[in-house]
Amino acid sequence: MAPCDESARYPDRAPRLLLLGGTSEARALSERLARETGVEAIVSLAGRTRAPLACALPTRIGGFGGVEGLRRYLVESRIDRVIDATHPFAERISANAREACALLSLPLAVLAREPWRPESGDRWIEVADMAGAVAALGRSPRRVFLTVGRLSVPAFRAAPQHHYLIRSIEPPPPEELPPSCELILARGPFSRDDEMRLMREKTIDALVTKNSGGPLTYAKIEAARALSLETIVVLPPSASSETSLQSLQAALDFACAKRPA
Ligand code: NAP
Repeated sequence: MAPCDESARYPDRAPRLLLLGGTSEARALSERLARETGVEAIVSLAGRTRAPLACALPTRIGGFGGVEGLRRYLVESRIDRVIDATHPFAERISANAREACALLSLPLAVLAREPWRPESGDRWIEVADMAGAVAALGRSPRRVFLTVGRLSVPAFRAAPQHHYLIRSIEPPPPEELPPSCELILARGPFSRDDEMRLMREKTIDALVTKNSGGPLTYAKIEAARALSLETIVVLPPSASSETSLQSLQAALDFACAKRPA
């Protein structure tokens, strides 16, 4: 793609984008923005992981302070468009971005991720939230592979009869762990064969996952299917109505688009 040459049409300044990140898609987009366009862009991370992967664009880290903090940041940093490339389960920041952009009449687009769909051979139980996932595990003790993210682990203390194999990038605080558990610290992607090996070795009989969509963490779903394991899938929050970008190319086009007069 040719670099955007907004500066020729808008001599005052090039487009200035805020990219709300924390996902592999945001990282891929930031690499392409840096390599292929002249857009000035800033990536924003929540700061959940202590050692985030390196990013190709200038990065700010930490919350903005709600809608008002984000609105102020957008004005002070002279941002003229926002791409929300956060995780599908990161509901609060997406709602804040929607509200702050609406207040300032700024264009906002969401980099969409297709949720996973059950296929033949899958033994899915779909639930609305973590409490639903806990209930779906039932009363009898089971060996559960928990891949729901560090912040969702405490919900499973409500079902201490199960043994949990917990995988997360960083460890949850010890007081938030269920009593019987083993912790694996790892960052994807993982292969189907490795996932199958792990599930067999740990004699797992149920997988619990968010329906995060996308290819990066799908291998566990394939592995559970191959092993005919019950898979408890927490449904994503319902999609909102703002512009949805279906590909990195669409996101680049949005980032480079001519500013309204
Ligand atoms: P959340 O519940 O929607 O956000 C909670 C608060 O964290 C927001 O109100 C905001 O604080 C701050 N925040 C979130 N994302 C931010 C960003 N990109 N830049 C600056 N501040 C941000 O989000 P979450 O579920 O805790 O997820 C946090 C981050 O981890 C997201 O960026 C997301 O992409 C990534 N992530 C989440 C999941 C998941 O399963 N939820 C999985 C993988 C990655 P203020 O109100 O102070 O601005």
